[in-house]
Amino acid sequence: MVDDPGAALGDAALARDLGADLVEFRVDRLFQGEGDADGLAAALRLCRESPLPCIVTCRAAAEGGEYDGEDAARIALYERLGAADPARDEHPPRYVDLEFATYSRSANLRQKVHLGVDHPGQQRDVATGLILSTHDFTGRPANLSRLVASMQGEPAPSVLKFAWKARSLRDNLEAFELLRERDRPTIALAMGEFGLMSRVLAPKFGGFLTFASLRDSSTTAPGQPTVRELLGRYRFRAIGPATRVFGVIGWPVAHSISPHVHNAGFEAIGFDGVYLPMPVAEGWESFKATLLSLLDARWLDLRGVSVTIPHKKNLLRLAREDRTRRWVIDPLADRAGAANTVVVNDDGSCAVLNTDIGGILVPALGAFGGGPGALREKRALILGAGGAARAAGVALAGAGARVSITARDAARAGELVEQLKESQRSGEKIGPVPWEGRCAERADLVVNCTPIGMSGGAQPQEQPADAALIARASPSGVLFDTVYNPSLTPWLRAGAAAGLRTVGGLEMFVTQAAAQFEAWTSAPAPVTLFRRAAGETLGLTGP
Ligand code: NAP
Repeated sequence: MVDDPGAALGDAALARDLGADLVEFRVDRLFQGEGDADGLAAALRLCRESPLPCIVTCRAAAEGGEYDGEDAARIALYERLGAADPARDEHPPRYVDLEFATYSRSANLRQKVHLGVDHPGQQRDVATGLILSTHDFTGRPANLSRLVASMQGEPAPSVLKFAWKARSLRDNLEAFELLRERDRPTIALAMGEFGLMSRVLAPKFGGFLTFASLRDSSTTAPGQPTVRELLGRYRFRAIGPATRVFGVIGWPVAHSISPHVHNAGFEAIGFDGVYLPMPVAEGWESFKATLLSLLDARWLDLRGVSVTIPHKKNLLRLAREDRTRRWVIDPLADRAGAANTVVVNDDGSCAVLNTDIGGILVPALGAFGGGPGALREKRALILGAGGAARAAGVALAGAGARVSITARDAARAGELVEQLKESQRSGEKIGPVPWEGRCAERADLVVNCTPIGMSGGAQPQEQPADAALIARASPSGVLFDTVYNPSLTPWLRAGAAAGLRTVGGLEMFVTQAAAQFEAWTSAPAPVTLFRRAAGETLGLTGP
């Protein structure tokens, strides 16, 4: 939105330097209506001095903008800009944007619009194209297909633009369908936090352009990436028709570090893929409906998904219950009762894995010298009884450790012990211990599987157990914190100060992400890069 033309031109130069091709100037506040010579002069200046080809938009208040003058005056502005005379050092904008609702209101208005834009019936030499747009800030327009047909029935516009507020990831699929069925250059965008996919994947489906902001506008325009994010994190220039799509399903998921890590990995190995945050609201029904819709749209090329809180159990349930495709469940995921990875094969069948198990097992083995037998007969104490604890139980008991589980809710700890025992393999030792006595347990390995100490959680400064007491009971013990943000938690800090060895949650994160990456790409994961990308991202988003 332009308030000061000088500042807007400075921003446009910055956008060009960052890699943008086109800039939109919103002049709703600049132009006051009929007789506003200053507003007209400012708009002419923007077009003349713009460092990039530009779109000029004067959006009416009734259409979500801020212009509240007469329509005739803003159309006269467009006409004047389109008739810019290079001999007088004037430059026409590349496009002007007008809403279909205004355009279709009267034949008279339409005629006036046509005078200022390039179209098949134009008699004069006009360089400005018309973007005919429609926006719905509440949700998908009920009459979308009629709207599309009406707009496609208009011969004059150079570009059609459809934008509506997405209510779920599924709205993106409809936006892509519009692009696939376009009859001319078309923009189709799902707005809001569910709509990021439509913005990033526009080039895959031949979208005419996508919008990105110069500065972080995640609070005012959620789902709209910055130019830097679009071109850097999501590698927009590398996206094409054959690009494979990956993402992390969770709620909330906007601050996940997985997109940073996997996209950096794809770039490093030259893999034609992109990885996106995919918010799916809590609940089995929304998870099931969304994931099946994404998988059913084979043209989307969804080839892999990470699944995080609160949907890990939902993924396993879907794989067990769905009959619309073939699901192959990894036995460890089956045993853990939860899964975090989908690999979509060429024939549409899906493999389901739980890479959290290896994410705990590999660093835990490493702490005891590596090798498959390194944990045999070691005493492992797991703090917590949720999903991560379950993965830890499967990993450590499977590796031959004597596993104790403790949680503030003793019944929940007991349930987890019973469930793990049900699928117990011969020789595995698993039992509960009381939460109150946890620090006095003699243990070779203590694994925190609670969110205590997590930045942004309820107790970022707390410890799940007193590290000094643990050091007294188990002087050669190892503390393993699954929390990875911050990478050095208060508990690990206290453990190191008490002379204990420590393993951080970042190692678990990187190990489980590497296993996903390898399952999707069949290439070795660039683990050092993963560690660096994850660390840098946590530095940016951390406390
Ligand atoms: P979850 O299923 O919600 O389980 C959390 C467990 O922690 C529950 O037993 C819960 O007890 C307990 N808990 C929560 N707050 C507590 C408190 N203040 N005092 C004592 N116990 C408390 O969560 P999850 O999926 O297992 O995840 C747990 C943590 O693991 C996450 O915070 C995350 O940092 C970490 N994690 C890391 C990775 C990685 O890649 N590094 C991967 C997955 C998870 P109640 O049942 O009584 O609430």
